[in-house]
Amino acid sequence: MTEVRELLGGWGNCPRLDCRVERPSARPALLRAVHQVALADSNCIARGLGRSYGDSSLNEQGSVLIQTGLNRLLGFDRETGLVTCEAGVSFDELIQIFLPRGWFLPTTPGTRFVTVGGAIAADVHGKNHHSDGSFGRFVERIWLLTADGSIRCCGPAESRDLFCATVGGMGLTGIIVAASFRLMPVETAWFDVTFRRTESLEQTLEAFQQTDGDYRYSVAWIDCLARGRSLGRSVLMLAGDGRVRDLPASLQRYPFDVPVKRAKSVPFSFPRGVLNPLSVRAFNECYYRTHRDGRKFVDYSTFFYPLDGVQHWNRIYGRSGFVQYQALFPRATSHEGLVALLERVSKSRRASFLAVLKSSGPQGDGLLSYMSTGHTLALDFPDTGEDLRPFLRELDDILLRFGGKLYLAKDAMMSADTFRAMYPKLKQFREVRSTVDPENRFASTQARRLGIVDSASRQGASGRATAVVAGGRG
Ligand SMILES: Cc1cc2nc3c(=O)[nH]c(=O)nc-3n(C[C@H](O)[C@H](O)[C@H](O)COP(=O)(O)OP(=O)(O)OC[C@H]3O[C@@H](n4cnc5c(N)ncnc54)[C@H](O)[C@@H]3O)c2cc1C
Repeated sequence: MTEVRELLGGWGNCPRLDCRVERPSARPALLRAVHQVALADSNCIARGLGRSYGDSSLNEQGSVLIQTGLNRLLGFDRETGLVTCEAGVSFDELIQIFLPRGWFLPTTPGTRFVTVGGAIAADVHGKNHHSDGSFGRFVERIWLLTADGSIRCCGPAESRDLFCATVGGMGLTGIIVAASFRLMPVETAWFDVTFRRTESLEQTLEAFQQTDGDYRYSVAWIDCLARGRSLGRSVLMLAGDGRVRDLPASLQRYPFDVPVKRAKSVPFSFPRGVLNPLSVRAFNECYYRTHRDGRKFVDYSTFFYPLDGVQHWNRIYGRSGFVQYQALFPRATSHEGLVALLERVSKSRRASFLAVLKSSGPQGDGLLSYMSTGHTLALDFPDTGEDLRPFLRELDDILLRFGGKLYLAKDAMMSADTFRAMYPKLKQFREVRSTVDPENRFASTQARRLGIVDSASRQGASGRATAVVAGGRG
């Protein structure tokens, strides 16, 4: 069989690696692909829509099995909102089908272009983590294709160990072929959003604390270049589900209709340096000034997915790509930790175009799940070459000093030692994993870098490169 190789990247396009790629379009083809991996004494990793930022869905030493062709809806219970589908179904598809019928995702990341498999494997969170937890909390059953070729079922009350290793397990227990999870009933496609500006980080954290109990959703855009007393000044967005009776009369008649926006696109990679401290400072000033305190109804797409409105927006970081650094601090140390982190960033000549702060609630079941009670800050840094890694190491040291951790779905450069220190349940994860994948059939570039699987894991027979595909494509 001809081998297809492609240059693949995550959403950050850093790194981009030459990988052997397969796109099974039905379950028998997927089973065959995994069987072939075993026969060749090699390894593979599942990939969804490639919206993780780093190298978690890359595998230059084995195969990448892209799951987007396995995207059938298998069942829906209109009483309970329980949906069963193949893992290649995207959140975008779920919204298109179910939102007009009064159901929405129980939690969603900042892009709808993720698959159900990717959402479970990263145990993704949204703006409602402090009130609802992460996606794994809504999953009732997973059908997992494991290394021996069998499909095993697991859930919160069935093969629980395997479930806890698979939710947040970054594809390393096997391939999620299907899942059942609960959707959330909604009356409208609108969200009732209160905007509140704060003048400092202290005010922002205080506002989260005061409002966490009152608002299902919250998020703060943060000015990461502000210094001194303004360090951490933010525009806070606090929201609840829009109810029909509260909508303006003009929207009440068709509460699931939202304005159709013309899709914009970044046509090519920007030259290096377009996003520099000067341009980011100007943008931040403008954003902060134009967002005055107030309350309005915002459609789901604008509220949850502002970046999806611009296709290929990752190209603004240029060909060498970028990393997203998502740092979570426990609540007890988050003020001090965030100050230390923001001061370090502000002193560097780097400017993060996006800086988003969220409040997080208790950790879910996943042994490698990211979110736990505290505050999480996401920052983007263009890949500037050799000097980026030492800078990120400094940020890692700050995180470690304050008991924080990095998100695997965003990570591209963390060291194995740092990972071990940040994820105390790694030993338990490894124990469960060794029972279902003793020969490391499932492995990614990230898993080898972080020492989750042996870096000398099997490569099998391999040929050379043929095609080139830009990052983020399925
Ligand atoms: C603009 C943007 C905003 C984002 N905002 C958030 C956010 O707010 N919160 C958040 O939590 N995340 C966020 N993310 C990250 C994103 O939600 C996760 O990386 C998610 O895992 C991507 O899903 P995917 O289908 O693209 O998976 P991929 O990126 O293709 O893969 C991610 C991981 O899932 C595994 N995987 C994929 N499919 C399967 C499968 N069928 N079986 C087993 N393993 C599988 C892969 O092996 C890999 O380890 C954001 C990403 C972008 C680009």
